[in-house]
Amino acid sequence: MSAAAPVIALTGGIGSGKSTVADLLGRHGAVVIDTDAIAHELTAANQPGTRAIAHEFGAEYLDEQGRLDRKRMRELVFSDAAAKQRLESLLHPLIRSEVTSRIANCSGKSAVEVPYIVLVVPLLVETSAYRELARRVLVVDCDEELQVARVMRRSGLTPDAVRAIMANQVSRARRLEHADDVVRNDGDLAALESAVAALHEQYVRLRTDGR
Ligand code: ATP
Repeated sequence: MSAAAPVIALTGGIGSGKSTVADLLGRHGAVVIDTDAIAHELTAANQPGTRAIAHEFGAEYLDEQGRLDRKRMRELVFSDAAAKQRLESLLHPLIRSEVTSRIANCSGKSAVEVPYIVLVVPLLVETSAYRELARRVLVVDCDEELQVARVMRRSGLTPDAVRAIMANQVSRARRLEHADDVVRNDGDLAALESAVAALHEQYVRLRTDGR
């Protein structure tokens, strides 16, 4: 019986390329667990997160399909720090419990089925709730102006709005202090693909070498 699949926590600032790196590692065979995707699933119609929000904040925070009304909730938590705290204390335990159950589901599976697990946690450094689950921390790092440009292109937000989000995240330097591995995403996709391929080889060895 080989050792359990190592968990690699993947983090980075907004628009740094976390999803892109996770997708590339997934194509190499990694099992990807994405905390943002789980948060979305938990706030779909008839899901535990949605039920808890309706109970705590009222059914007016659900849309006509019974899903979380993200826009309305965003407006509330933007102007009300206590509401933000209440929302987080509802959702975070549900997300974490889903993460641990998905990791547990991987146990007993072979190194071919699960060479390693990539756990995407945008606010890994800020929250610290997931660090203990991970063998290594992988930081996706890119120039801050490139982050702004990529997020603007994708979302249509203004440069100031993107910088305001970045100002609420931990600084680039502080995030890098937590990194075991860094993947730079300043170049084109081909450059990123070859950096990710090298990381994949490194992570596969974590399990096969039994370290
Ligand atoms: P968020 O924090 O908002 O969830 P993220 O860190 O997951 O973002 P991605 O969604 O992977 O970042 O990338 C942000 C945008 O930049 C996407 O539209 C993606 O296609 C694009 N992108 C990422 N890396 C590159 C690259 N090397 N070259 C060109 N475009 C890129």
